[in-house]
Amino acid sequence: MHLTAETRLNAILDGTGAGTWEYNLDTGEIIFNERWASMLGYTLEELAPLSFQTWEKLSHPTDIESANEALTAYLSGEASQFECVVRMLHKNGEWRYIHTRGTLLNNSEAAGNRWLMGTHLDVTEEKATQHQLQQLAESLPGIIYTFTLNNDGSFHFPYMSRKAKDFYGVTPAEAQTNPERMFEPIHREDVPRVHETIENSRQTLSEWVCDYRILKDGRTRWLRGVSRPERNPDGSTTWHGVITDIDDQKQLEFKLAALSITDELTGLYNRRYLLKKLHELSEESARYGHPFSLVSLDIDFFKSVNDSWGHLTGDKVLRTVASLIEKRTRKSDIVARTGGEEFIVLMPQTTISDARHVAESLRIGMETENFASEDGTEFNVTLSAGVVCGTNDADRVQELLSACDQLLYQAKRAGRNQVVVSEIGADKS
Ligand code: GH3
Ligand code: MG
Ligand code: MG
Repeated sequence: MHLTAETRLNAILDGTGAGTWEYNLDTGEIIFNERWASMLGYTLEELAPLSFQTWEKLSHPTDIESANEALTAYLSGEASQFECVVRMLHKNGEWRYIHTRGTLLNNSEAAGNRWLMGTHLDVTEEKATQHQLQQLAESLPGIIYTFTLNNDGSFHFPYMSRKAKDFYGVTPAEAQTNPERMFEPIHREDVPRVHETIENSRQTLSEWVCDYRILKDGRTRWLRGVSRPERNPDGSTTWHGVITDIDDQKQLEFKLAALSITDELTGLYNRRYLLKKLHELSEESARYGHPFSLVSLDIDFFKSVNDSWGHLTGDKVLRTVASLIEKRTRKSDIVARTGGEEFIVLMPQTTISDARHVAESLRIGMETENFASEDGTEFNVTLSAGVVCGTNDADRVQELLSACDQLLYQAKRAGRNQVVVSEIGADKS
């Protein structure tokens, strides 16, 4: 069966549900199809006589203005096609969103008979969905986005919610035209991790989860990205996900982590942290042969300090001892209060003879420190120490600790206020 071009075109237009319009820019003549009228709940007959005003009367005033701007841009050659969305009033009183597209009929210009022709398509449902998405995005405490990474390494953000501005200082439009902007505020130290985790997620198609810091307005904040990847037919990968601000949660985590390794009275590390570091150093020593040393310190006759001057003065002594040890050791040394009036100093990359010198300096420092009780009475306190050389066997750290304790007791038995060094690994300097 032979179909005319017109029959075919009408069938196609019917299929798309598009209304058509033709407008003569010079004579003002206007033609609409029946579908155009039914889109707004009318028949063409009901709207007769048809003129430009028919469209104008049914359109939202604000949108008429933007439609005119779009038309001017098209006619001046600034825009490659005439396109806009105009709200039009349906017979039932509702505003419908009408996507308007148009083009100048070829060669009509010269004749002073310029026909602009195009389609009207009802996109109200799409608009509603878009609006819902926007509302949803606004109500979320984070950014929602999609991110596409191509095989050649180029990337873009097909969707970015407005919160990007709050978090990154980047507007969704900027993120779309200039996607690198979304990576620029990431903390320098976190950049490699962000890239590595994205690459891993791309390869394995497993969820991307990454905590990282961004710098904005001179402030660092922790963010968490969680998104799900999917492979596109062209081999590129698209993630759909959210980015939330986890700064408060992170700060609390850090505070708790710090508390869990800190001795409350002195601010030094606690026994748990010391043991962990001791294991690590032993393993490092086994692997790289780095020497390390351990000094165990115990205040002499501390019970009598408490008994004579009171518990508060005793606490003050403990804090002074803590700061004395910190001052006379290196930053890389781990200083811990491991018991009531017992301290351990773990010294990485330190030979036993160097450790012995440090222990001696602590003993002398303590001996010469003047303490005062609450009523102003001055007194002195001494300490005893045991020094051992580190082990390269992480399973034997307990033995190492008790060996160090043994030396400390030896110092106590020998009269206190002295340092006893392990014979093994010790030189006599
Ligand atoms: P030695 O020379 O043999 O080490 O004698 P010492 O009195 O120091 O040893 P002992 O183990 O008999 O006593 C330790 C004392 O430390 C007992 C306890 O009251 C005191 N102590 C433990 N923890 C604290 C604390 O947090 N604050 C105060 N003020 N005293 C503490
Ligand atoms: Mg003691
Ligand atoms: Mg003790």
